[in-house]
Amino acid sequence: MIHNENDTIAAISTPVGNGGIAIIRLSGQDAFTIADKILCGSKSGVLSAFVSEMGDHTIRHGYVFDFSGSRPELIDECLVSKMEAPRTYTTENIVEINSHGGFSVVNKTLELLLKAGARAAEPGEFTKRAFLGGRIDLSSAEAVMDVINAKTDNGRRAAISGLSGRIGREITSICEALTSAIAAIDVSIEYPEYEFDEAVGSDALLAIGEQLKKLEALGNTYSQGKIAKEGVSVVIGGSPNAGKSTLMNIFCGTDRSIVTDIPGTTRDIIEEQIQLFGFPMTVTDTAGIRQTADIVEKIGVNRARDAISGADLLLYVIDALSPVVDDPLLSDVPASLKKIYIINKTDAREDVSAIRALLPEDAKVIEMSALTGAGVDNLFETIKEMFLLGSFDFTNEAVITSKRHKQLIDEACELLRLCVKSNESGLPLDFVAEDLRLAADKLCEILGKNISEDVIDNIFKNFCVGK
Ligand code: GDP
Repeated sequence: MIHNENDTIAAISTPVGNGGIAIIRLSGQDAFTIADKILCGSKSGVLSAFVSEMGDHTIRHGYVFDFSGSRPELIDECLVSKMEAPRTYTTENIVEINSHGGFSVVNKTLELLLKAGARAAEPGEFTKRAFLGGRIDLSSAEAVMDVINAKTDNGRRAAISGLSGRIGREITSICEALTSAIAAIDVSIEYPEYEFDEAVGSDALLAIGEQLKKLEALGNTYSQGKIAKEGVSVVIGGSPNAGKSTLMNIFCGTDRSIVTDIPGTTRDIIEEQIQLFGFPMTVTDTAGIRQTADIVEKIGVNRARDAISGADLLLYVIDALSPVVDDPLLSDVPASLKKIYIINKTDAREDVSAIRALLPEDAKVIEMSALTGAGVDNLFETIKEMFLLGSFDFTNEAVITSKRHKQLIDEACELLRLCVKSNESGLPLDFVAEDLRLAADKLCEILGKNISEDVIDNIFKNFCVGK
């Protein structure tokens, strides 16, 4: 992303379309003078520019004008907020224009601001400036989009945990402890004549061990944080005609999948976002993995394999009337993927013990009739037990929801374990200090310190324009 941090940027911060009001945001050192070029207020019946004269953090009524023609053209009536740097979202001067939320009005106002000297903001550029301006660390900036995208209460709570700086504070405190340990080791290396190597070594080891525990605990919150943010990804697999589409329709509460008695009619995968017990869940109905010469169905089969590779849970549906349990799908899936075997159509065959006997001893098995709905509650409860129980205390604890954070925490933990090992095996403290430094660097990356512009750009490019 090529950008100049001195530019004054502008964007529509509300969604596209008609609405009661819309907000056009302007941020940068020239925000007030640019706003003066298109906004006028009435004073004793005379219209004049007013934003530069407004008090800090005040709101005033005004009008948007296009002054480019032979006569000024009134575009809209609006409310204008003025916020002076540095106490603002971006840490820069900000003007927000609350205009009527019409497509033409909003776009015209933005166009006028751009003509008056502003540059169109890149996705996430306002938040990026808040980060570059030092108001928030990178972990808080990343949480902004999570708050916007949260679809459930738990997703929102987990996101706000990041936004409020809880992750940043926890990581900063661990980082500081590691930095102190590094400093102590450095002193002992620099003044070997004092021979306090041993004492420093055991103190450092203690500190490292303590921080490692804290970091591991923080990393462990990811399994819950990920579910709160993204939900559980469930894939329905099984042989054609087993009842997958019928089950999918139970999840969705609609006839989303085509249900027929001709095998192989779900030719592509169908994906739906639902909520189960307040958690988001992506349910994917697959075409059923089977070798096929039909090109259309082959594409579907490949997509099904892709969907399964990223899933948390496979619901493998077995037709009680013609059971298939030697499906290549079952041998192909990663061992770590959780599975529930569903013996379906129990309305048409009561005794399914022979089918159960074919399944692994420790398998989770649900007997069900997708047609009548018998056994569905049992299935939902089993999913809840597998994924949604546990201490979801998102209101007080720092919860990791970002894959980037989780990866960096894991890498830092690995380095800290190395430090402990080196120390235990009596390696010189230089070795320990080097790995400690690398571990602290990993944690700094979470906060956004010493990271490349590419990494930062990559994070903000997934933001929406206007945020
Ligand atoms: P898919 O190919 O696995 O998606 O299977 P479908 O959901 O399309 O179902 C295939 C056929 O089995 C349809 O005629 C369904 O009505 C029928 N079916 C699905 N579930 C049940 C069930 O629990 N009991 C009975 N008796 N029939 C079912």
